[in-house]
Amino acid sequence: MLQNPEYIRDAIKKILDQIPQDVTVLAAVKKRNLSEVYAAIDAGIIHFGHNYVQEAQVMFDDIPVEVHGKTYWHLIGHLQKNKVKHAVKIFNSIDSVDSLNLGKQIDNFCQEMGKVMPILIEINSAREENKNGVFPENVVELIQHLEIFQNLSIDGLMTMGPVTEKPEDIRRYFRITRDLFDELSKIKQKNLNMHILSMGMSDSYRIAIEEGANLVRIGTLLFGPR
Ligand SMILES: *Cc1c(COP(=O)(O)O)cnc(C)c1O
Repeated sequence: MLQNPEYIRDAIKKILDQIPQDVTVLAAVKKRNLSEVYAAIDAGIIHFGHNYVQEAQVMFDDIPVEVHGKTYWHLIGHLQKNKVKHAVKIFNSIDSVDSLNLGKQIDNFCQEMGKVMPILIEINSAREENKNGVFPENVVELIQHLEIFQNLSIDGLMTMGPVTEKPEDIRRYFRITRDLFDELSKIKQKNLNMHILSMGMSDSYRIAIEEGANLVRIGTLLFGPR
């Protein structure tokens, strides 16, 4: 159901009032339309997340440059190899990097385009077989291997966590990711700039913040159920 702009603005104001000031709300906008995005911008949202490169491109075609310039677009969905070049062109940040090969390809295209791409490493914190993300025990090694890529800025970690019945059940996976974040923050490495911990969605963002998230990705709670 498409909510009216007032609903969206109220929902966003409510969340922004509740959370600590140093936590950023990223609006997850998969399958949302431009009027919903505009309502979010009106309410003070700057960070947006898309799951798909193509869907983002369609939306960006309709966003005036001056609006686009005031917003910051994250790719939060899995990035397919054949979409890397396009993604590097249109996103401000790629928050779902989970392999050396993907990091290498992003770096290659960034080098061609003369830019440095902020990335987050996606952690498969519950070690689920069929999920994207790096297993926690493999993250240090991946990050060390990414050191040679000067057109990447490894800014932090992202995790989804498992789908659980009770949001409270997800806390331990946020904690695992937070512990990794703390461990990685001690490593000194040229392109490593650990400062973003992206965890929590509509049903779990409070728990995520309690566990140290400073970026929460929220869709349903801002825009209504769909
Ligand atoms: C859809 C999505 C969200 C937001 O989920 P809601 O439950 O609607 O808040 C967050 N992160 C990712 C990666 C998503 O795909």
